Amino acid sequence: MKRIFTLLLVGISLITSAQERCGTEAYTKNMMKKNASFAIARDKVNSQTEKWIKNHPNHREKTIITIPVVVHVVWKTNSENISDAQIFSQIDVLNKDFRRLNQDTSDTPPIWQSIAADSEIEFCLATTDPNGNTTTGITRTQTSLSEFTINDSYMKSAASGGINPWPNDDYLNIWVCNLTGGLLGYATPPSNFNNPEDGVVVRFKSFGTTGALQSPYNQGRTTTHEVGHWLNLDHLWGYGNCGNDQVSDTPKQEDENFDCGTFPFQDVACNTTGVNGTMFMNYMDYTNDACMNLFTNGQKDRMLAAINQYRSNMLSHNLCGGSVGISEQKNNNRKLIKIVDVLGRTNTERQKNTPLFYIYDNGSVEKKMIIE
Ligand code: ZN
Ligand code: CA
Repeated sequence: MKRIFTLLLVGISLITSAQERCGTEAYTKNMMKKNASFAIARDKVNSQTEKWIKNHPNHREKTIITIPVVVHVVWKTNSENISDAQIFSQIDVLNKDFRRLNQDTSDTPPIWQSIAADSEIEFCLATTDPNGNTTTGITRTQTSLSEFTINDSYMKSAASGGINPWPNDDYLNIWVCNLTGGLLGYATPPSNFNNPEDGVVVRFKSFGTTGALQSPYNQGRTTTHEVGHWLNLDHLWGYGNCGNDQVSDTPKQEDENFDCGTFPFQDVACNTTGVNGTMFMNYMDYTNDACMNLFTNGQKDRMLAAINQYRSNMLSHNLCGGSVGISEQKNNNRKLIKIVDVLGRTNTERQKNTPLFYIYDNGSVEKKMIIE
């Protein structure tokens, strides 16, 4: 699968610029080179994580953790100024993927069904901003820049044509903008170093499930993948060929898989992969959005360790509609805030046979259609 796709890519790149699935590894390596404190802190993360998991044998019994999100839309063209509905659709994907409520769980091969995790992590659009005021959890910034690059992260600063992050101890900052070279996204991995650039960046054409999206990265899985990095998950192949992702229940694999695989997909280069082949449908591979469907229990352990060690404000905050854990409210006392269509218009009550998004005060969104 991998080799065939590489050849295809070469062919395609003659005509148009190729898609680059993820810049997190490049970002992290570059940042470690530039910043000694970051490098020292990152070097300690794997041993700290291993120790934390060992010392907290009952950590999986924790209740739901809810992460407050602020989405910063940084736009030049109208199409980059994505609709609220597109943003809501992405929050919905995150909640489904991290709670294993995604529609495609049955695509996980039977052999891995038992290790597929409900990570017990949820996401809300923040309802309280850093000043204590009510917010939609969405900011919109017009910029003069046509593109942003991974090297300078200009989207993360008002002085350079973007917008400053909200305090990263309290919020997951997600910038949505146009990225150079077809890069789909990148994230900052956690550590004890307080990275002023902390957060996730996603290309506007790969964010959410509705709007002007680019196939095959149009199911919101770029953000699922990048938030995985933000919670300390590595790619399945670690940092190098047949490397180690520090997760024991993901098989070893040589490097990235693209496209869609057929189980079992053997990766002959790593003879330790095993008879089931690579876990190409894991969110931390590079396969198409429609072909990804799980995090494992081992990955869940690592994410919970990351939150407890490096993002502990996420365990106790009051930034998600006055309650920690949207699942507690999900079917009880949530209130309908508004109904919007795919373009974010609110005067939609009379529209029939068109998808509408019902937005609730706990950050949850339901897609409904009035059939006539
Ligand atoms: Zn990645
Ligand atoms: Ca592994």
